[in-house]
Amino acid sequence: MRVLFIFIDGLGIGEKDESKNPCAFPGIQLFNNYFSETYPQKLPFDGIVKSIDCTLGVPGLPQSATGQTALYTGINAAKILGRHLSGFPNQKLRDILTEYSILQKVTEAGKKAGFINGYRQIFFELGPEALIRFLSVTSIMNWKAGLKFFDIKDLRAERCIYHDFTNRELIKKGFQVPELSPEKAGQILARASQNYDFLLYEYFRTDRAGHKQDLCKAGDLLIQLERFIITVLNHINPSETLLIITSDHGNIEDVSLKSHTKNPVPLMVWGDRKEEILQGVESILDVTPSIHKMYVKF
Ligand SMILES: [Zn+2]
Repeated sequence: MRVLFIFIDGLGIGEKDESKNPCAFPGIQLFNNYFSETYPQKLPFDGIVKSIDCTLGVPGLPQSATGQTALYTGINAAKILGRHLSGFPNQKLRDILTEYSILQKVTEAGKKAGFINGYRQIFFELGPEALIRFLSVTSIMNWKAGLKFFDIKDLRAERCIYHDFTNRELIKKGFQVPELSPEKAGQILARASQNYDFLLYEYFRTDRAGHKQDLCKAGDLLIQLERFIITVLNHINPSETLLIITSDHGNIEDVSLKSHTKNPVPLMVWGDRKEEILQGVESILDVTPSIHKMYVKF
């Protein structure tokens, strides 16, 4: 069984209120999960969603560096630091990621792990060591697990996808790359996932959109993102590939606030063994251990 893991930054479960939550817009099919006592719930395409905690038992608003470290290692990074850390991991978090990240653990177990986001040439020219203070959790764990970073050549050859999956950000910067529809990008991701035991894709425009507080743009973004995910679902075999989608903290589900939220985040799973993944998972800390338990016997 393969795992395709789509990480969506800043996607929480909020109120059913179209005036501040773009997940409540008409046309939203997957992200329209609201505060409820009745989780897990069914999702279209035979998936299920559970509401999980992301506050890590530490006061203050959840943030990306500690939240993602917790999500990808199962270690409570915020408790260790005594606070939530935003942006990029510090040395302590980098050490945790080096030893315990899911990419490292899958690789150690002799399985093929991958991180499919494409990187620009500047990343390769400067190298991760020089950029260390500006490396995301995902970049750190991919680097430290010794895995390949995909470049623009790979992007043109459809071996990877860019973080916005349409390539529009690259085109704006002058790169000669084709603009992709959400459907085309979804097909590339679904196809690539067949070459890995565990493949990660990171999407963070949701978090940016939440901080910008533009309700309409946030709604458009979510509709495009759902088209991308639905295409993936239409192109993977649920008996072979498990699709897991989750987040590190809330944000876009409440654009009345400029900041992150303490709302729970959805853990969405599709595939034949989806119930096993959700079993016992109550917070972002439990996601990686649950995947380990099922797919990688350590
Ligand atoms: Zn943020």
